[in-house]
Amino acid sequence: MQSEAELRSQLRRIDGRGYKAYKDLRGAYRVGRFELHLDHVQADPFATPSRVRVRLAGGEARIPPALLEGRVRRMALADYLARRVRAAVRDGGAGRRGSGKSGIVSIDAGAQEVLERTAIRLGEDGGEHFVEARLAVGLPAAGRTVLGREAAALLCEDLPRIAERALLFDRLPEGSPERFVACVENQEHLRERLGELGLVAFVAEGSILPRESGASDRPLRHNDAQPFRGPDSLRVEVSLPNPVDPRDPASTQVAGMGIPRGVTLVVGGGYHGKSTLLRALERGIHPHVPGDGRELVVTDPAAVKIRAEDGRRVERCDISAFIGELPYGRSTTAFCTEEASGSTSQAANIVEALELEARVLLLDEDTSATNFMVRDARMQALVRKENEPITPFLDRVRELYEDHGVSSVIVMGGCGDYFDVADTVIEMRSFAAHEVTAAAREIAASQDTHRAVERDRPLAGVTERIPLARSLDPSRGRREVKIDVRSADEIRFGSQDIDLRAVEQLLDPSQARAAGYAIRLARERLLGPDTSLREAMQGLERIFDEEGLDVLDPFRRPDGHPGAFARPRRFEIAAALNRLRNVEFRQRR
Ligand code: ADP
Ligand code: MG
Repeated sequence: MQSEAELRSQLRRIDGRGYKAYKDLRGAYRVGRFELHLDHVQADPFATPSRVRVRLAGGEARIPPALLEGRVRRMALADYLARRVRAAVRDGGAGRRGSGKSGIVSIDAGAQEVLERTAIRLGEDGGEHFVEARLAVGLPAAGRTVLGREAAALLCEDLPRIAERALLFDRLPEGSPERFVACVENQEHLRERLGELGLVAFVAEGSILPRESGASDRPLRHNDAQPFRGPDSLRVEVSLPNPVDPRDPASTQVAGMGIPRGVTLVVGGGYHGKSTLLRALERGIHPHVPGDGRELVVTDPAAVKIRAEDGRRVERCDISAFIGELPYGRSTTAFCTEEASGSTSQAANIVEALELEARVLLLDEDTSATNFMVRDARMQALVRKENEPITPFLDRVRELYEDHGVSSVIVMGGCGDYFDVADTVIEMRSFAAHEVTAAAREIAASQDTHRAVERDRPLAGVTERIPLARSLDPSRGRREVKIDVRSADEIRFGSQDIDLRAVEQLLDPSQARAAGYAIRLARERLLGPDTSLREAMQGLERIFDEEGLDVLDPFRRPDGHPGAFARPRRFEIAAALNRLRNVEFRQRR
């Protein structure tokens, strides 16, 4: 490791030279109490910024040992520290120092969800703990000329100042990391308890579900938002490991609405908060930051949002349980299309979720295909069954639960035929939840829909699919691996675009990036002639658990900067793979 003086003298030497001279700086330096690792130097001031790590020994950081205990606490603490680094940069920690991205420092910290990510590493080196921030740094230039003095100020003054503000525990707002970690730990505790409580989700009393706007995932301002209220009949109390209110150490009980396993219907008039509740459940697969309003809205981690997605590609998917023989005798046991319709895309989304062992399906009438959801008595009378390939979800939803253990939560304000199949009916009225199961049952008993159940055969098990490795080609031009992500909506994987706009539970661009690189990793390390998609996704989870997300970067030197990744679930990785324009599968028979 070189000294700060050596770094400064190198910067003096290359001052005024071409930008490429920065490449010589690659290496490790001791700057004050920090280690500075320059892992990758950008090609020019306008290119993707350089990758820099700032590392501090655990003893220097004075991290309370309790915060490092166990996976959940470490994940939460790392997420918290990334946010502190981002705040320290924002509060005048660094600024422009020349042209292009000169002087800009950034870290891949999260938004409302708390995720496992590569931005901060809490590691161990020879029995010594350390904390490391993984940064993107724009090395300063005037035009394309090295600004040595600016670079020295950036690397030897800005970065240590940012790291001191964000990583030294004595400098953090008192109790703030502990509160953040405790809040996340409560959420994960609740999530773990869902199973034994017989629930698929829990929504705490007083939660703030509505968001600021369609474009912002922050909570709606407190005066405008009606805090969540649930019915007494679904009220569940859970004790938590940490106080809910940090000022009140005794506040370790939380009460809220438990959504039981089975088929749950969410009804209610338009604009009464149905979709808002469902969206909170969709997001409840991950913990949220304190102050989000959904800190204690927790969903089974294997809950998958299902929607219609016309135009999506489908490859060799057995959707025959929902869509029978198509016109002209086209079979749907290995259904392929470049552009699925509303109903076929929704069927494929369900079958793909089941293939990956989803336990809960979340559906909203707003984003569902009507003909997929229901076919009522009058339509049954007019269009004969042999001319209708669709077995509506209405006729499969109970079977999904009873024979396959898969629960559903369905937002359905427009069709009472679902009363026949629901275990629980929740009415949203003026943003408060009421249980109306008994009334719905009575109506179902006294007012027959006169519709016939349309189910010609039982719902069979899933047909597993084997992805063909050669169809997952991440190369582009001369680059062996080229995967680009700018938003959570799109991945450019090699020379194919993956459209993720309808994959609503992929929340963070860094999750999308991770999903792209995970496909490459699966091809590299997991796929074989008979490895199913499900097995590959399980294998990825094992790799992430054992080796961490750093493993996603194919170009990384041992202990180098891995780039910006956040952990996606298997469902989201598979969703990306399933939407590759060239993906090919073989069915396992
Ligand atoms: P629905 O699906 O029943 O038609 P939405 O869930 O779309 O209704 O909600 C309609 C509007 O009400 C949205 O703008 C939403 O942000 C807002 N909203 C939802 N829940 C609340 C609440 N608890 N307090 C205040 N506004 C809310
Ligand atoms: Mg709605």
